[in-house]
Amino acid sequence: MAWFKKTRKPIEAKEKPSRVPEGLWVKCPGCAQAIYNKDLAANLNVCPKCAHHFRVNATERLRMLFDGEWVEHDPRLVSTDPLNFTDTKSYKARLKASQASTGVKDAVVVGSGTIDGIETIIAAQEYAFIGGSMGVVVGEKITRASEKAIERRCPTIIVCCSGGARMMEGALSLMQMAKVSAALARLDRARLPYVSILTDPTTGGVTASFAMLGDLNIAEPKALIGFAGPRVIEQTIRQKLPDGFQRSEFLVEHGMLDLVVDRRDLKASIARALRFMRAIPAPSPEPAPALAGVGREST
Ligand SMILES: [Zn+2]
Repeated sequence: MAWFKKTRKPIEAKEKPSRVPEGLWVKCPGCAQAIYNKDLAANLNVCPKCAHHFRVNATERLRMLFDGEWVEHDPRLVSTDPLNFTDTKSYKARLKASQASTGVKDAVVVGSGTIDGIETIIAAQEYAFIGGSMGVVVGEKITRASEKAIERRCPTIIVCCSGGARMMEGALSLMQMAKVSAALARLDRARLPYVSILTDPTTGGVTASFAMLGDLNIAEPKALIGFAGPRVIEQTIRQKLPDGFQRSEFLVEHGMLDLVVDRRDLKASIARALRFMRAIPAPSPEPAPALAGVGREST
């Protein structure tokens, strides 16, 4: 019986106990330098030395994009676990654990406020909540966000950060791709701008639906963006993939995205783009035209 049993113990990496208090310094995965975490926070979680973009939670995202106060929408929508799903752990327990650790009820936070004075609705995905996966609640919240944008005649922004559809909700999670896409099509017909911000990582069903549907698709530097992972693709096509495959810079070069913008310039770039799309006229001494009639110029 011992034929296939591992008798030797795997080598354990021995780390010396650190005398530095936990969480005061962060090691940058980009340049391996230690960064004081307050410096990192002040720099929008971008490494001041090598510009590595650390992952940011949804609430922090809204804070860095909105001018000041914002109103959160539908914060209490929760999944009902329609399939009564269990894998290594029950889906109900998984939801409960994620809610406790992130402080949000599902993997997206929607808020309305202003970006550089422009009234905007932003939906930001929360990666720490089951990999930012898109289930029924995420689909419903994003749909409601776009409906609210039509009601108020204001632009919509979605900050994508997701592993894709939520397996624990089966086909219902896949249906969200169609549902959100339909909601965004209505936004388009109402001639309102939608800007998609793709952050690390944006994969699976999210890439296959709303992440790529923006009037403008902006990515953060070096973000992993794709549908299937590189390993799966390599095994399928039996070819070695080029360097930087599925990273923002590669995708811009190949026409999949419009822009790669450093997080520190993101807010200004979005505001400029929204003004360009004439979501709202640029602040000027001239009398502002009525909002309802302002759309993109027809050709
Ligand atoms: Zn760094």
